[in-house]
Amino acid sequence: MANKWVYLFKEGDATMRNLLGGKGANLAEMTKLGLPVPQGFTVTTEACTQYYEDGKLINDEIMSQIMEHVGKLEEIAGKKFGDKENPLLVSVRSGARASMPGMMDTILNLGLNEEVVEILSTKSGNPRWAWDCYRRFIQMYSDVVMEVGKKHFESLIDKMKAQKGITEDVELTADDLKKLSEQFKAEYKSKLGEDFPTDPKAQLIGAIKAVFRSWDNPRANVYRRDNDIPYSWGTAVNVQMMAFGNMGNTSGTGVAFTRDPATGEKKLMGEFLMNAQGEDVVAGVRTPQHIDQLKDIMPEVYKEFVEICNTLENHYRDMQDMEFTIEDQKLYMLQTRNGKRTAFAALKIACDLVAEGMITEEKAVSMIDPRNLDTLLHPTFDAVVVKTREPIAKALAASPGAASGQIVFTAEDAKNQAAAGKRVVLVRLETSPEDIEGMKAAVGILTVRGGMTSHAAVVARGMGKCCVSGCSDIVMDEENKVFKLGGKEYHEGDIISFDGTTGKIYDGEIPTVEAQIVGEFGKIMEWADKYRTMKVRTNADTPEDARKARELGAEGIGLCRTEHMFFEGDRIDAFREMICSDTLEGREAALAKLLPVQQKDFEKIYEALEGHPVTIRFLDPPLHEFVPTSEEDIEKLAKAKSKTVEDIKAIINSLHEFNPMMGHRGCRLTVTYPEIAKMQTAAIIRAAISVSKAHPEWKLKPELMIPLVGESAEFNFVKKIVVEVADKEIAESGINLEYEVGTMIEIPRACLTADEIAKEAEFFCFGTNDLTQMTFGFSRDDAGKFLDSYYDAKIFESDPFVKVDQVGVGKLMEMAIKLGKAARPEIHIGICGEHGGDPSSVEFCHKIGLDYVSCSPFRVPIARLAAAQAAINSK
Ligand code: ADP
Ligand code: MG
Ligand code: MG
Repeated sequence: MANKWVYLFKEGDATMRNLLGGKGANLAEMTKLGLPVPQGFTVTTEACTQYYEDGKLINDEIMSQIMEHVGKLEEIAGKKFGDKENPLLVSVRSGARASMPGMMDTILNLGLNEEVVEILSTKSGNPRWAWDCYRRFIQMYSDVVMEVGKKHFESLIDKMKAQKGITEDVELTADDLKKLSEQFKAEYKSKLGEDFPTDPKAQLIGAIKAVFRSWDNPRANVYRRDNDIPYSWGTAVNVQMMAFGNMGNTSGTGVAFTRDPATGEKKLMGEFLMNAQGEDVVAGVRTPQHIDQLKDIMPEVYKEFVEICNTLENHYRDMQDMEFTIEDQKLYMLQTRNGKRTAFAALKIACDLVAEGMITEEKAVSMIDPRNLDTLLHPTFDAVVVKTREPIAKALAASPGAASGQIVFTAEDAKNQAAAGKRVVLVRLETSPEDIEGMKAAVGILTVRGGMTSHAAVVARGMGKCCVSGCSDIVMDEENKVFKLGGKEYHEGDIISFDGTTGKIYDGEIPTVEAQIVGEFGKIMEWADKYRTMKVRTNADTPEDARKARELGAEGIGLCRTEHMFFEGDRIDAFREMICSDTLEGREAALAKLLPVQQKDFEKIYEALEGHPVTIRFLDPPLHEFVPTSEEDIEKLAKAKSKTVEDIKAIINSLHEFNPMMGHRGCRLTVTYPEIAKMQTAAIIRAAISVSKAHPEWKLKPELMIPLVGESAEFNFVKKIVVEVADKEIAESGINLEYEVGTMIEIPRACLTADEIAKEAEFFCFGTNDLTQMTFGFSRDDAGKFLDSYYDAKIFESDPFVKVDQVGVGKLMEMAIKLGKAARPEIHIGICGEHGGDPSSVEFCHKIGLDYVSCSPFRVPIARLAAAQAAINSK
């Protein structure tokens, strides 16, 4: 049988999401539930993939199925494309598997032409409506299908309004709208050199192709990368009969949530506009009304809508985000989906649903997006300081969190200045999809216009970024990069603070404080811990970081880097003296100064961890990173070593390497200077002994980790040194201390020879930053310069330094695990690269059987949740 590329809404259901996209599957499901849905059909996501495979062409088979379904829809509707009596108008809507709000395009009122608009106008007795539909259609079609920018049409509307001395679109008359349609078509012709298409079927195909194309537009690509949505999924296209919200004052359109997407509170939330269509509500054309007001305007419709909301929420067992349109008092449902929400709301809703008996704990754990937890771990304003400050204004609390930073006026400036290391807040009239990257770069977003469902609000919540919207007190002059608020002028670079939880805006800087895991957050994390099987450790070099990570639930340290400890105060002097010694005695003398200091550091870390495991890694970076650069420091070092400045400079020069990341570093340092490893072993073991004496109940078992091993003999060489020193220290102490010597696995050769290495190594820890670098042969410090071109060329979908490359690097990891366990069944294996805090990488780590992931302190809760989800999903 030929492939089925097109489905009527009545042929599908919610389980067919992969094929029909989220929007299409839910339209089908709502149809099945008997809800009032304008009927239509869905062209599948597979058709989209096929379109790209065929070189951006709709092939004959797909084309004929589309046309066949146009016929079926005409029958269902009792209307026909281009008909003289009863013309059919449709919307053409994108809809991928995962919802990507606003990322792709929709066209409304398709099917109109000069003739049809006249028929509609006469038959309906509502010429204003007919011409409003037509001018909207020309606008959307030109913009979306032909890529003539929206702004050309908007400026024509603005001109018309100015001529007539009116401010609102709804004040335009039928005649005005007719004139506008003519002007629009003229604009179209002047831009494209051809007439606006009149054949509805040709319009339809143009629109379907445009939706397919929009899957590949730049903003969709960025959105997918940020949200882990594969390019290969494709988008479906929904062709649906129009419901008209713009027929006059008994019509309207709106959006609503069954629970508050900002707080999670169980109450209907939403906004609508009378006599409006499509995205007028979210576009901020007029200020929308609150959904409760619908009760007074149309009590019957309101009642029906509330019932539908309840039906949908109970059916999907999750908070729903719905779009509806009222056409002359009759309600139509146009979309429902599990609503996007703040992290805070997500936790509350999940816990409430469990309490309401709607879902299980496991389900609650799996419905939280780990990436969103970030926001909850972000700082809020220092409560004491904020009390002493008067807000200069208050607007909508659109997305929680606190932001304090330097003002920028464009997304471009936000991006550039953030890249230059500034904390910036983006202040704009309103935002649009072009601003996404700037919004990402800013610490907060403040807009003059827009409600709770405005672009800025929705996107900021998705990003977990603080946003205050609709601050109409601001007198904005975007062009000159200045605004007035609270009697003061603000220019680029001035500092302002605002709170996305209260909507309050303050002049100047306000210090922030860290968040805590309490309430619903605590409950979800408790459930996550109950279901996960992988441990979560942290990467921490200081007792403060270690303590923070413990508060956030870390069960140990997976990576304690020792090099950072050498930079503080006068330690660096001793370290430099060591580097610049040309004799063993000289180096030992310098190391002797460092030993007690390093021992103290380790003691503090063991104390902070209270008996939980700590993996300490030996010195890793190339020595060149430690040498002095200023003349003053060089002279100081020369004096200390009784050498000439020239001698020191010669030593520094001799340390220079062309490719230091592949140079004299890691365990190679121990091979040339065993005394460094001896000192570090002694410091670790002495620290453990002294802390064990104070706290015998902690049963410390130091884990000493050798970096950059690629050959078992190399590891064995270092291990022998470590064991000699450690055993001697332990014997002298008179207490019984066990310890383990293991290795980082970060060189491809170590994966290939893991069985050999595991004969002596007692644990492995994947250093996936270096492993990724060396597997790809990309410098992790420079890859950023060309990765963008890799995304554009679709070679990569994501940064392999952020998300583990499961195909290549992952294969090496699996090989290392298999070989390592065969040689030493009890070996424990973890990961301590940046990937340890990335949810999809954590899932992969669970799958390949790691014992733990280790990540930076603030990512610990994310890793705990991701690990639980991996365990639940693999059940
Ligand atoms: P998005 O995925 O960006 O939300 P949609 O496809 O949902 O895009 O459509 C954009 C707007 O057009 C929404 O407000 C939607 O309700 C409206 N719309 C889409 N199809 C129809 C239709 N058949 N009748 C009336 N309004 C529609
Ligand atoms: Mg849209
Ligand atoms: Mg929508």
